Amino acid sequence: MPELPEVEVIRRGLVPHLTGRTVLNMAISSQKLRRPLPAGRLREWVVGARIAAIERRAKYLLFRMDNGALLVFHLGMTGKLTLVQSGGPSRKHDHFSLLLAGDRELRFNDTRRFGFIEIYSPDELHQDPFANLGPEPLQEEFSASYLFHRARKRKQPVKCFLMDNRIVVGIGNIYASEILFAAGIKPTTQSGELDGSQWQRIVIAGRAVLEKAIACGGTTIADFVNESGHGGNFQNHLQVYGRAGRPCFVCQTPVSRIVLAGRATYFCPRCQK
Ligand SMILES: [Zn+2]
Repeated sequence: MPELPEVEVIRRGLVPHLTGRTVLNMAISSQKLRRPLPAGRLREWVVGARIAAIERRAKYLLFRMDNGALLVFHLGMTGKLTLVQSGGPSRKHDHFSLLLAGDRELRFNDTRRFGFIEIYSPDELHQDPFANLGPEPLQEEFSASYLFHRARKRKQPVKCFLMDNRIVVGIGNIYASEILFAAGIKPTTQSGELDGSQWQRIVIAGRAVLEKAIACGGTTIADFVNESGHGGNFQNHLQVYGRAGRPCFVCQTPVSRIVLAGRATYFCPRCQK
């Protein structure tokens, strides 16, 4: 499943190719994604408009159109956005495509159809559609004092706390394990028990791990590919995720695997207290 770094890699890959381009037409399959595609509204607000900017909020890719509308993509589990020469043969599971000026076509392909596409008109944007989401982990608002205050008196394991989108966005299962390893904190620790310096380690580790993952082009565990169809290589840098029973790179103790809130969780029992 694409997490924040993978979505950011796609965004950075698309920006130079799509910014400023006009959408000439679009194509929509009849199959339903997680939500039905709003075909009429997409046609109304996207076709004929120019892509002014491509941004990201959490795991949402946001296309700001020059008419003030916002086109939103969520990749779900298996969603892929790829840029191809227009007119190429369509593939199975292509659900949506934008035909762009300059003979380019942006295709949304999604085998399992957990992804979705949404469009907001300028009027609907008077309210922030993402108001219920916590801060971005790469921005300053994500700080030790913010986390300390949000975690106070909470018994929830720190790993689950970090994966809660209302606390901080975009930290999924792989990166939660990796960040806590880098911070030297056991995933089962109760959030309310961590002190300011431990939260500071988590903030620093969070930024470092996510930035490195972005620099590596993301993590390819199942079938993540960037906008040009290439996988990332951060999976070669994972310290604990998926390494149960294998020696910790720091202390050689076998990496442990437990299940927390239904999700596989990896840690070094010696390095993470
Ligand atoms: Zn270790």
